Amino acid sequence: QREPADPFKQGWLKGVYNEKPVQKVQTRFPPEPNGYLHIGHAKAITVNFGFARSYGGLCNLRYDDTNPAKEEEQFFTSIRDMVEWLGFGPAKITYSSDDFDRLYELAEELTRRGKAYVCRCSAAEVKSRRGGAEHGPRSVCEHWSRSVEDNLEDFRAMRDGKYKAGEAHLRMKQYLGTKPEDYEVQEEDAAEVKKEKARIKSLAENPALWDVAAYRVKNENYHHRTGDKWRIYPTYEFTHCLCDSFEEISHSLCTVEFETLRPAYNWLLEALDIKLPASDEKGPMQREYGRLNVEGTILSKRRIAMLVGGTTVGAETAPSDPADEAADGIDEIKLEEEGDEDTETPAEATKAVANGTSTGRKIPPVVRAWDDPRLFTLVALRRRGVPPGALKKFVLDLGVTKAISNTAIHTLDACIRTYLERTVPRLMLVLDPIQVTFTNLPDDYLEERSVPFDPKDPEKGTHTIPFTKTIYIDRSDFRDSDDPDFFRLSPGQSVGLLHAEHPISCTTFHKDSSTGKVTSIDAEYGSHVPAGRARIHWVAESPAHHSPVRAEARIFNPLFKTSKPNELDWKNGGYYDNVNPESEIIYSDAMIECGFEYVRKNAPWPKEEGEAKKDGAGHPSCVRFQGLRTAFFALDTDSEGEKVVINRIVSLKEDTGK
Ligand code: ATP
Ligand code: MG
Ligand code: MG
Repeated sequence: QREPADPFKQGWLKGVYNEKPVQKVQTRFPPEPNGYLHIGHAKAITVNFGFARSYGGLCNLRYDDTNPAKEEEQFFTSIRDMVEWLGFGPAKITYSSDDFDRLYELAEELTRRGKAYVCRCSAAEVKSRRGGAEHGPRSVCEHWSRSVEDNLEDFRAMRDGKYKAGEAHLRMKQYLGTKPEDYEVQEEDAAEVKKEKARIKSLAENPALWDVAAYRVKNENYHHRTGDKWRIYPTYEFTHCLCDSFEEISHSLCTVEFETLRPAYNWLLEALDIKLPASDEKGPMQREYGRLNVEGTILSKRRIAMLVGGTTVGAETAPSDPADEAADGIDEIKLEEEGDEDTETPAEATKAVANGTSTGRKIPPVVRAWDDPRLFTLVALRRRGVPPGALKKFVLDLGVTKAISNTAIHTLDACIRTYLERTVPRLMLVLDPIQVTFTNLPDDYLEERSVPFDPKDPEKGTHTIPFTKTIYIDRSDFRDSDDPDFFRLSPGQSVGLLHAEHPISCTTFHKDSSTGKVTSIDAEYGSHVPAGRARIHWVAESPAHHSPVRAEARIFNPLFKTSKPNELDWKNGGYYDNVNPESEIIYSDAMIECGFEYVRKNAPWPKEEGEAKKDGAGHPSCVRFQGLRTAFFALDTDSEGEKVVINRIVSLKEDTGK
């Protein structure tokens, strides 16, 4: 059998490596520590860590913590946990803020080189200078031509607290001042001149190079790591490429919305002689892959906060930070996937939601927490029991190219299902039990049956289950009147039992007169079963075998009735009317056969990196199994001592409705 081909050594990824086939591959995963990671980040993590691993290189985890007041300890910890859970170990953990001094020095250096200036224009002024239909051709402001000395002095004044947020910015002197006549091609131009003008034109007409801000003043200036040392903070555009160079990143892989920013990334590195103009030989090389979009998932931090904390109608107002708004005016090319409301941390968002101004309708929480298994944050996917390997496979099966991977939840479910099929043990589990008593067996009747954990994989071993006078079957496997189209148990009919020697037949049943629900069934063991009848699952009553294990089973369905919840009315609370009342169905009296104890002790299932037990205690969700004829399940974090709570990871087939 041949080793499966390494997905990083083919296609687009191989091309990226070949553009810069260095000995020492170094990548980084650079999240902003302002929230929980989501399914999209699983792609970023897999791509960056996987690429480095495949080419014998290293990948750092870099907290891109350049924004004060948006960072909380729990996000740093959770991000790191999720990287490890996915089976990757960062070579180094770095913080952009650790380089604030170095970044500041380089900003001064850039200013000394005449390539940055302090601009005191308002956001509106900056915007109008960028030109366009309303504003005419773009133009530079009076600050553009100030002397290096004045700029240095004013930049230091920014640093020393002379200005409030929005009053001054250090802007990079890129191409805002380049006029069309500077690159208009003339008939008589030589070929090289024409080529050079075309190059300048493409740079000068890229809004990402219209003198974007490098530093801004922040009013709220308490930083998680640097405290109140700084009043000015570097922008993404200034920070990212420089931190890449400090960490000697060879391949800086990011998502396609940063493609228009690539010239700006290179511009700064070239301006500081970190990179050779028009060459990727020296300095880091940025390349862009398509984002992962799973249709029907809510990933916006603010929206998840509304789901977690409840809201008051009209509360979804975008917070505004004047410093950010005035920063660079490049909003039109920044990622606007979820709207700018998504700049808060969950805690801020929850607070804003709680302080909703409207006196209108109060909307209650829809989910319990950020790791509620109905969400698509990585903590939620883990809690639901999705194996990290399935997520990585999902990402790689979709392929890594420049194209955006748009996919649907059922594609993800199918991938998880296939992944679990042969990697987790199988057990019998009854969600909604009805007691069955065999009237033809003595009270102490006992058969011990040896059952494989996976009939196709002897490696997983076998275990013993009891068969006794009293068993439980699932309510859905019984009908109180015979129906020719129903092939399971009904009065006068027989059915087979999985793993049992003989079939059973129903003689009579009992109903609760007030609820009309069937409460128990009398049956005989060992009757003849006509061809075409099913074999159903069951769990026996046998205290000596600790059978059954009682559990609460939680079945998850889509959170919304629509498959496009992002199109709902989030501002006015309209989303609430679309919540699926069946998004969580709880079976509080579920029963699992006694093999569960072995499965629990021998987790993780599957045995994979990232989930190996540390100090004997793995995350409960790595206790996974297939409930025969039911679904895949994992142990929930609410389990405690004797109390067992399990989550449905995914159904056995698409849309079984169970
Ligand atoms: P969000 O706003 O959705 O939380 P982000 O883009 O702000 O995401 P960061 O924490 O800044 O997330 O990003 C860390 C890395 O993850 C970046 O390189 C970013 O491009 C990448 N990333 C974020 N979302 C996705 C996605 N949906 N698919 C692939 N990569 C993603
Ligand atoms: Mg971000
Ligand atoms: Mg974002």
